[in-house]
Amino acid sequence: MSLDSLISNTIRADVRSDKSYHVPDASGYVKLDAMENPYQLPEVLRRELGQRMADVALNRYPAASYGPLKERIRAKLGVPAGYDVLLGNGSDELIAIMAATCAHQDRRAVLLAPVPAFVMFQRSAQIAGMDFVGVPLKEDLTLDLPAMLEAIGKHRPALVFLAYPNNPTGNLFAADEIEAILRAQGDQGLVVVDEAYEPFAQQSFMPRLPQFDNLIVMRTLSKLGLAGIRLGYMSAHPALLEQFEKVRPPYNVNVMTQAAAEFALDHIDVLNEQARLLREQRSVLSNALADLPGVRVFPSAANFITIRVPDADAVHAALLSRKILIKNLSKMHSVLTNCLRVTVSTPEENAAFLDALKASLAA
Ligand code: PMP
Repeated sequence: MSLDSLISNTIRADVRSDKSYHVPDASGYVKLDAMENPYQLPEVLRRELGQRMADVALNRYPAASYGPLKERIRAKLGVPAGYDVLLGNGSDELIAIMAATCAHQDRRAVLLAPVPAFVMFQRSAQIAGMDFVGVPLKEDLTLDLPAMLEAIGKHRPALVFLAYPNNPTGNLFAADEIEAILRAQGDQGLVVVDEAYEPFAQQSFMPRLPQFDNLIVMRTLSKLGLAGIRLGYMSAHPALLEQFEKVRPPYNVNVMTQAAAEFALDHIDVLNEQARLLREQRSVLSNALADLPGVRVFPSAANFITIRVPDADAVHAALLSRKILIKNLSKMHSVLTNCLRVTVSTPEENAAFLDALKASLAA
């Protein structure tokens, strides 16, 4: 049997020519590439969580309703009264569910986003069989509203994705511009406001759900300190959530994730305090970066900072040789030429990054 024939007879051409999502090996590095919270739960809480885990029924499928977990999310994370949430194995899964739900079989539906954007918007669109339309940000990384509105009129996207704050740029788009997009979409299309970095922005469209029936607000526990458990949630008008529920795989959030998330949300003050420390460190690090000659710092409302340096490839390589792992954005889009993205971390790791950056810039 020829494996080449087997693969070309079975696997989609676009998948065959694609690469899988690349996650660099970070062992031995100061890991500042993935917007993780550097802090663990305190030891005493980890031990208590361990005891809770001992009682989790691993032999049973997860309860269908996810009741106790959803109740905590609604109560503690600002979901408006009368609104429910849909849970995903990370918000990555929610993006895929939305794309799969809106990819029509009789015509190519469109997913539109400003670019550069979180890469999974485009990937999920492609895998679901939607066309992706990217509308470039302006040079200062703000939304090009006229271009967005024109593209919406032209392409009639079923889904517009806006990360608020945006990844990989870190900035918050203007709220009135997002409202203009919600109005332009009207009953022709949905607008997903992806609030993965909400703990660091403290600005949210969640309270505006009752105002806009075409608004979906998506969030994750990943950036708050629980990236390892993979839990995302989204809220929208109940009539919409009901549709997405039909596409959500059964049992997509496992019992360990549920137990850990319930426990963490019962101690959300600890996570909120960690987010506060990181917001504080963000301004310390931004100021220090702004003092470096040749470095441009873009404003950030997230737990990462995007900077422009004279030669991003050289600086990135020099940082790697000093065992500091950050993200090189330079090849991602022309507005990000010579840009790098660094996660805000502990004072010690931020200092290690700054020292290495200074040495790399001088090299
Ligand atoms: N949305 C944005 C804007 C992100 O940056 C990320 C992760 N980098 C995600 C969603 C996915 O988060 P997760 O799957 O961990 O919930």
